[in-house]
Amino acid sequence: MKYDVIIAGSGPAGISAALESARSGYKTALIERYGCVGGNLTMGYVGPLLGTVCKGTIAEEIEDAICPARGMVPDFEKAKIALTALLDEAGVDVYLQTMVTGAEKEGSILKKVHTDGKFGHMEFSARVFVDATGDGDLAVQSGCPWEIGREEDGLVQPVTLMFVIDGVDPEQTLLCQHEEHYTDLGDGREYLDLCHKACASGELPENVNIVRLYRTGHKTERMVNATQENRIDPLDPLAVYRAEAALRRQIGKIMDFLRNNIPGFENIRVKGSASTLGVRESRRIMGRYLLTEQDLMEGKTFPDTVVHRAHFCLDIHNPAGPGQSVHDEKCPKSPKRYDIPFSAMCPIGCDNLITAGRCISGTHVAHSSYRVMRICMAMGQAAGAAASVMLSTETSTQTVDTNLIRSHLMDRGVRLEDN
Ligand SMILES: Cc1cc2nc3c(=O)[nH]c(=O)nc-3n(C[C@H](O)[C@H](O)[C@H](O)COP(=O)(O)OP(=O)(O)OC[C@H]3O[C@@H](n4cnc5c(N)ncnc54)[C@H](O)[C@@H]3O)c2cc1C
Repeated sequence: MKYDVIIAGSGPAGISAALESARSGYKTALIERYGCVGGNLTMGYVGPLLGTVCKGTIAEEIEDAICPARGMVPDFEKAKIALTALLDEAGVDVYLQTMVTGAEKEGSILKKVHTDGKFGHMEFSARVFVDATGDGDLAVQSGCPWEIGREEDGLVQPVTLMFVIDGVDPEQTLLCQHEEHYTDLGDGREYLDLCHKACASGELPENVNIVRLYRTGHKTERMVNATQENRIDPLDPLAVYRAEAALRRQIGKIMDFLRNNIPGFENIRVKGSASTLGVRESRRIMGRYLLTEQDLMEGKTFPDTVVHRAHFCLDIHNPAGPGQSVHDEKCPKSPKRYDIPFSAMCPIGCDNLITAGRCISGTHVAHSSYRVMRICMAMGQAAGAAASVMLSTETSTQTVDTNLIRSHLMDRGVRLEDN
């Protein structure tokens, strides 16, 4: 199979990259291991879309296509259809149930990706490749260097299985939400404090000291971001299986806690759960630039900026226990609006491979901010734009004129120069 651009992984970053590349007129393939496109936007039940970036990115279009309103949890069933419709309309060839398992290089140029699946072994060649697998699988298969976890012990953020509940009484309930929101339950109890005490007493599972609740498009529903398993290596299949099973068992205890403590939650039931546990953090592929916490805190700008005015707090769910690890959970440490340079998306050792999404080159702390979905989508769009410019100018990630990538994005309406 021969393409101009091949994108591995169809999460928020991969879909955005594929749309941008195909809309720019290049023959584009999107390869996904699961039976549905979307990654955390569908299979992972993750929402709402968090983080902000400058105006005019593809994140706005995708959010409008899949969410009842901006800032609300996606309608996951609608997303499964709407994302496919966008990809079909753009002319992307989507390969589902197809796992990227290997790479073939000549010198520093990636020539082919190998895949395995129900249909057997396949080989795909292209001139430019994008690794949007979240875990950086293709970059690792291509021999690029990577790091994982925090510097002192290699631990990554905990894994979580998201689920949705129904049966909340909209007349009775208070709006309990998450760490940053103070909720007085009306009888002298405060929601976050109640969660902490329930964790300490064993009423909630170990390490689950906050039950984050988000509104969906239906008044009687809530998205629950609470289950948590720590010290899991997301690249070890047996560890992932054990975590997945443990997270599903935690749901019952969390449901009992909500039913027994929160007015309006007495009759809740589980409406649905993610098809896979959610991995917040795994490999970070080392690139020509390493984005750091300091860059974020200073709001650093770069000559090759391709994502502008990104913003989200440093959000490290504690790798070793409950709560947050870098700051007081009620008062997250917030960077200035920062930029992401193209050079952080260019893995060392492979000149026609671009990374996009949570696997780009950054530190453990910086990753905790740029990993959220609106920022990942903007990175994906930038990767698609870079691939188009590399093709039209017959250049590599080393030689491409990054001003042309920026112009391409600005022609699309991305406000890279907006302050
Ligand atoms: C529990 C949890 C809660 C979160 N909460 C929020 C939130 O509320 N808001 C927010 O904005 N962000 C949230 N995030 C973060 C956010 O969802 C992710 O960081 C983001 O989805 C990363 O996007 P991505 O495209 O890089 O990767 P992913 O969404 O992980 O997508 C990667 C895709 O690649 C596919 N893939 C992987 N390996 C291969 C392979 N070898 N071959 C083919 N396909 C492959 C996967 O199946 C997947 O579809 C949360 C994350 C988790 C885990």
